[in-house]
Amino acid sequence: MSSGAWFDVAFDIPADRLFTYRADEKGEAEVGRRALAPFGRGAREELGFIVARRDAAPEGLENIKRLRRVVDKCAVFDERDVSLAKWIAAYYICGIGQALSAMIPSGRRASAIPSLGGDLEGFSAAPLALSDEQRAALDAISARIASPPAAAAAMFYLYGITGSGKTEVFLRAAKRALEAGKSVIYLVPEISLTHQTAKVVRERFGAAAATLHSGMTPSERLAEWSRAREGRPMIVVGPRSAVFAPVARLGMIVIDEEHDGSYKSGSVPRYHARQAAMRRCSAEGAILVMGSATPSAEAWKLMAEGGITRLDLTARLSGGSAPAVKAVSLAGVEGCLTEALKKEIRATALAGRQSILFLNRRGFAHFFHCPSCGYSQICRRCSVSLTWHKSRGRAICHYCGYSEAPPAHCPSCGSLEAGYKGFGTEMIEEEVRRSFPDLRVRRADADSTAARGSLEETLEAFRSGLIDVLLGTQMVAKGLNFPGVRLVGVVLADAGLHLPDFRAAERAFSLIVQVAGRAGRYFPDGKVIVQTLRMDDPTIARACAGDVSGFFEQELRHRRDLGFPPYARVIRLTARSRDASRADAAIHRLAVLLRRLLPAGADMLGPAECPIALVNGNHRRQIILRGKRMGPLHGAARAALESYEKGKDARAHVEVDVDPVSLL
Ligand code: ADP
Ligand code: ZN
Ligand code: ZN
Repeated sequence: MSSGAWFDVAFDIPADRLFTYRADEKGEAEVGRRALAPFGRGAREELGFIVARRDAAPEGLENIKRLRRVVDKCAVFDERDVSLAKWIAAYYICGIGQALSAMIPSGRRASAIPSLGGDLEGFSAAPLALSDEQRAALDAISARIASPPAAAAAMFYLYGITGSGKTEVFLRAAKRALEAGKSVIYLVPEISLTHQTAKVVRERFGAAAATLHSGMTPSERLAEWSRAREGRPMIVVGPRSAVFAPVARLGMIVIDEEHDGSYKSGSVPRYHARQAAMRRCSAEGAILVMGSATPSAEAWKLMAEGGITRLDLTARLSGGSAPAVKAVSLAGVEGCLTEALKKEIRATALAGRQSILFLNRRGFAHFFHCPSCGYSQICRRCSVSLTWHKSRGRAICHYCGYSEAPPAHCPSCGSLEAGYKGFGTEMIEEEVRRSFPDLRVRRADADSTAARGSLEETLEAFRSGLIDVLLGTQMVAKGLNFPGVRLVGVVLADAGLHLPDFRAAERAFSLIVQVAGRAGRYFPDGKVIVQTLRMDDPTIARACAGDVSGFFEQELRHRRDLGFPPYARVIRLTARSRDASRADAAIHRLAVLLRRLLPAGADMLGPAECPIALVNGNHRRQIILRGKRMGPLHGAARAALESYEKGKDARAHVEVDVDPVSLL
């Protein structure tokens, strides 16, 4: 009975502090388990993480309460996890309990461990002979797995077009690590790619493979989690949060499609898996291996400076070759398909092959405008236009879900000239079906694939040739591998290019290159048609040419001139409230505090309205804190938030985002 023991507990709250309790009555408390504990006033109890044990009661604390009940049968995290959680809390300015909540699956009980197919004795051999480039890359990586660096993480980047054999190198390197008795974490972007990669990894590594993905129930996830904790060398495949997988003896973390936006968490803690991976690799003596055809600006700069070793894969190994890319002007075109694109869709179908049409905008038409009086239809709760979803007969807000009936004439002046403009995936679908009544057409976007498993079904149908034209949003752009694709059409390359966000060009560029990469993976006759309203835009021109280094030369110069990442570090503070004046007051108070604390060489943009000033009835204001180094910015932000807390307005909510990926 450990009645003489006290425990420090972290709760899932923004506070950067721990709470001390006496052991529970059964004496089950230990570091690494979660427990229900009385918290706050009255009989309220909260689930907390036991992060430390004390042999003496903390001084000056009286009437220390007991833990009510320990919920885990055994530890679900350990000291190493606590230290990682502390790092996250410090770097991303959140509570330790918030960090632990993001790290550990929330299931209460691990269900039976699912049996996995695949070969359980050793690993199945890969039949391919590596190319010289693949061999050189594998050798460079393997040498570091054998002797990891002492201080900073060794970082590699497999830079190569889709189909250049990156996955094969990741898998071989993983095999080397496992053979050396070390574990591997293999990160992939959300959803679609998880399944594809997990399947390959399971086939290759059998029982040494574990999968985590967002489609799993919390207890399924906890079961895989517990398997990873067993201590033998494992390869864990999963999205962002798999970076926290509790494997023993970490040897390598792989980040496939490193540029992907889903690696940054959209809720607290707003961590980036790349940053967390770097921290884990250096703390645990592992190496970091990333890969993409379109690296992030951060990674590109680090490669240029030598902080990341770049390994080039230049050849397409799957039999295909780089597709011919053609830019076509959409200016003056009726509808959303140019003659050039229609001609290629027809030619592709006649050849018995498949087409992908891409537009990162769902719905039928995305704004309503009146040319007579200038009226435009805006959401009541958000400062964005409503998108007309013809199939549902509603004009819908993509930020909050508000909807109304589409007006037949201008609600302001009655003009019949008013109407919806700007096309979305629904309109493309209609036009393709009208132009090609004999082709099998399928749309894949958040609306058409809302039902669970339906995206997988669509992708499978496409892979097996049951669909001629697949059209959709970035769901069809991400890392997917379809042998039969001959044609890729980017319906409007300009979409998203001129958003008021410093990463807009980078994002648009990488999307175009990525989606173009879906063409001609296995045949030499791939075609890409890029439709645009701005034939002279340098970003689009470079995306069409697949000129990544040319793009970054332009883009990095621009970022340096403007003082944006990767040449500066940024922390974004936002205040939101239902009441505009409260949001203003909160952001101004923060600004006053920050101005006093601002370190040398740092500056502050704002306070100002966010580019999207109203979301779901909340008025949003922001401050961008910017400086050469993160350390001093952290100090200023933390101190300002601490003072702010003391007299805060409970009806205004303040949030902090370190290394934000979007400033909208
Ligand atoms: P990436 O990850 O760069 O897109 P993959 O590793 O998926 O590329 O490889 C693309 C295709 O090329 C796959 O079908 C793979 O089986 C094949 N491939 C990979 N390496 C080789 C090789 N050395 N020889 C022949 N085919 C290969
Ligand atoms: Zn009008
Ligand atoms: Zn809205």
